[in-house]
Amino acid sequence: MQITFPHRPAPPKLVASSETRDLLKSIAIYLSLVLAFTAISLVVAPTSSRLGKFRAIALIPGHEVELAAFAIALAVIPSLVMRRVSISLLLLIPVAGIMIDLDHLPSALGIPQAIRPAHSLVFLLVSVGLVLLLTRRADLGAGVLTGFLGHLSVDTGLFPAFSPISFAYFDLGSYRAYFVAGSILASLLAGYLARRRLMPKGTFAS
Ligand SMILES: [Zn+2]
Repeated sequence: MQITFPHRPAPPKLVASSETRDLLKSIAIYLSLVLAFTAISLVVAPTSSRLGKFRAIALIPGHEVELAAFAIALAVIPSLVMRRVSISLLLLIPVAGIMIDLDHLPSALGIPQAIRPAHSLVFLLVSVGLVLLLTRRADLGAGVLTGFLGHLSVDTGLFPAFSPISFAYFDLGSYRAYFVAGSILASLLAGYLARRRLMPKGTFAS
């Protein structure tokens, strides 16, 4: 006679999957850098550059909805490229695209600050570089790039393009088309890299 044991469910996994870990690590790196750039700007930005004013409260929701809508549209592209849903990129791109505005925090608290201290090329290089370095995930690096470029596609006004090295302000309005094109290309790249990552070695085709 064969003795069968009632099916016991597997104990819940206490260790997050590497996918979740890499995503959380990327988000933590990005948010920490936004706050770090903001804090550094409070120390190093010359007083004359501390022109940051908090947008009129009534204007914030509309602008953030535009930012979120574009970021979400970009976040869907990698899943289309992969022909499967990438939860990581679906979340990371909007987080990167929206949370960069945490650099307005001091002015929201009434502290004079430089305008948009994390909206800078230096921030972009450091954040993409650190995500690549610490997660070894090129697709997540491309996801951060997508979110950042998507944000600059929607934002208007002045940017300290080389913050925190310099707080000279630039109007990047004439580059907007490049940011839009760049963000779409970066999202396609993120999808391509994520798709290649999931393929067993040597079988990637088309
Ligand atoms: Zn912004």
